[in-house]
Amino acid sequence: MYVRGVGPRVAEMLAPKSILTAEDLLYHLPFRYEDRQNPRSLDELKPGEMASVIAEVRGSLLLRTRKAPIFELTVGQGRLALKCIWFNGTYLNGKFHAGQTVAVYGKVEPSRSTGNLKMIQPQFEVLPDASADAETQMLEVGRITPVYESLGGARLASRWQRKTIFNLLESVRGAVPECLPQELLTRLGLPGREAALREVHFPPEGTPFDRLQSSSTPAHQRLIFEELFFLELGLELKRRRMRERAGIAFAATDKVREALREVLPFHPTRAQKRALGEIVADMRSPSPMRRLLQGDVGSGKTIVALQAMLVAMENGYQAALMAPTEILATQHFLAARKLLERSSRHYRIVLLTGSLDEDRKRHTRSLINNGEAQLVIGTHALIEEKVEFDRLGLVVVDEQHRFGVMQRFKMMKKPNQAEPDVLVMTATPIPRTLALSLYGDLDVSVLDELPPGRTPIVTRRVPGEMAGEVWDFVRKQVARGRQAYIVYPVIEGSKDDQPELDFSQDEEAGTAPPPAPARKSARKGKTADLFPKASVEANPGAKSGLKSAVEMHEKLSAGPLAGLRVGLLHGRLDADDKEVVMRRFQRGEIDVLVATTVIEVGVDVPNATVMVVEHAERFGLAQLHQLRGRVGRGAAKSYCILITGPRVSPTGEERLNAMVRTQDGFALAELDLSLRGPGEFFGTRQAGLPDFRVANLVRDRQLLELAKQEAARFANPPAPGKAVAGKITDAERARVWARLKEAWQRRYGLVEAG
Ligand code: ADP
Ligand code: MG
Repeated sequence: MYVRGVGPRVAEMLAPKSILTAEDLLYHLPFRYEDRQNPRSLDELKPGEMASVIAEVRGSLLLRTRKAPIFELTVGQGRLALKCIWFNGTYLNGKFHAGQTVAVYGKVEPSRSTGNLKMIQPQFEVLPDASADAETQMLEVGRITPVYESLGGARLASRWQRKTIFNLLESVRGAVPECLPQELLTRLGLPGREAALREVHFPPEGTPFDRLQSSSTPAHQRLIFEELFFLELGLELKRRRMRERAGIAFAATDKVREALREVLPFHPTRAQKRALGEIVADMRSPSPMRRLLQGDVGSGKTIVALQAMLVAMENGYQAALMAPTEILATQHFLAARKLLERSSRHYRIVLLTGSLDEDRKRHTRSLINNGEAQLVIGTHALIEEKVEFDRLGLVVVDEQHRFGVMQRFKMMKKPNQAEPDVLVMTATPIPRTLALSLYGDLDVSVLDELPPGRTPIVTRRVPGEMAGEVWDFVRKQVARGRQAYIVYPVIEGSKDDQPELDFSQDEEAGTAPPPAPARKSARKGKTADLFPKASVEANPGAKSGLKSAVEMHEKLSAGPLAGLRVGLLHGRLDADDKEVVMRRFQRGEIDVLVATTVIEVGVDVPNATVMVVEHAERFGLAQLHQLRGRVGRGAAKSYCILITGPRVSPTGEERLNAMVRTQDGFALAELDLSLRGPGEFFGTRQAGLPDFRVANLVRDRQLLELAKQEAARFANPPAPGKAVAGKITDAERARVWARLKEAWQRRYGLVEAG
């Protein structure tokens, strides 16, 4: 369809923003609004409030200070003036002319010297003057004005979008097809589609402003619900389709149950029993299992998975366990071998990782292919080496979100064989509603109980200057026969070194203080109060000065920890070396393991009771929680000591405080999610998290739950003949399905691939 204002050139600029159709443009919502219905007059402004002011440009000035150029704009109404200040504002030079009308929006600050008020880095817009066309006037002055993220430089900024979207809405007036059933809208009290779109872009007079800003007007809710409804409806169908696929119906005979009992080294927790029950029920059913086993670190997922694998093996099938790293694969292999030794049956277990030499790989592959290997443990090598199983019955994936894609399992079975069951284990305590939509096509079992005999881990935050005391403490613990981990954010200290975590960089960029300007000269004395002293001085190259595992391994072994057996583990060691170090630590031949986050997931050494993390402020919350989960695995009291560097950002503070406050993985996950947003929390694409146009999984959790219920209700209508109030017509149904198909293919292509 032709959209006024969008020619071929503009279309080309829009394409990379995923705006390909008129509809896409309509769903590009304002990210905030400005209330220009009643612009505030300068004499009524109070310091501390957020305000929108329309005033005339009086003059502007670029101050070239030693570090950051400051742009000052003075606007006025009558005799009153307001000063607006932008740091690094060179780009604004020449943009304003005396006599123009501008709207500025920002926090009102007092300005000591002149008695005038000021705004720092306000949002601004030059308003159309009297010569502008009537349309522009009408859209920008005297109303609630939508503000958009630019779709391409100044050209496609707010003003362009306002006009284009306004014209578009005019040209489709009365012709935007509804895509949800009327019955549903009435019941939920949501507006129709066209009205919602119109009101979200051009809110009618009197719309509560805070509702607009928080996306909670009925119009917003309608559009968010719509998006989530189609997501959930698609997932509902996927689940249904999976149920119809041909899988394996495993038997759970007494003989099988006896085999499970034989390997159990302890009494399972109630949660473990329940989870195993759910898994076995799935395995017995003829449709393929797709289940997520979710349990905090240390909740005992491994044994549950192993029992599930035994069910497959006892039924004459092969089971495969995939771990995200060689260390973990090796550890699982050793643990499984040890547990299965308890069994009277003689299972054949093999390990397949990328670093094995070619001969061994070839041999292992042939054992898998001819069916001799019953239990196969490995890394992605299982997929990459094109191993074809003889009779694959169950695949267990540990920490799946690091792997991404699930559909590749298909490669592991022979083409004409039944679909294997799949069990995914994750220690990421995903809030339930999110789990349900992210892993929407998986059923979920939760281990919400820790094995008995665990004592809570004592967590302390310690400034870097006190590290000496920490090392003394480590020595004392080692003297008692315990072991410790000391974790660093980087492997080596050299400049080109990549941190092993991907988290610190944006953090640094996001929260660094504004570039410190020079504090000098009488004129600039006025702005000096903006810059607390600390930010002027504390500006060492933030990225240098990070302690590294390699360097600290040397220093600690030669100094504070001299005489102890100190090992080193990081991602750049080759696989054999990693394995040797890990094994020695497990056997207690290493007292202190200096490491990077390679030990983050899964490593299980119950005798280790101390986890020290240096530069703890640089780690993400999930990482810290995972790291802490490496201790507290035995009966002895355990400690997690978070050593911080000289500068901690505000969100860093929040993370550290949360760690000290709670050990509850779900609480930490909720906080993490709210600090970082779902995209980063899961590593968007990897988790198959769709890109939402209007919804936000953190903000809209309740609507997500509602959408899920409604999608299930829609997909499973009551049997015909039953009286239902407010029926959905066939035409409406057809429209929903058509819309689903379109939305699903375009927006959620990745999810669909599973
Ligand atoms: P995770 O869920 O983090 O993978 P693991 O499976 O590694 O946890 O289990 C953590 C530790 O708890 C292991 O040492 C394991 O042997 C032990 N464990 C698991 N279940 C129980 C139980 N029911 N009783 C006692 N110890 C258990
Ligand atoms: Mg585990």
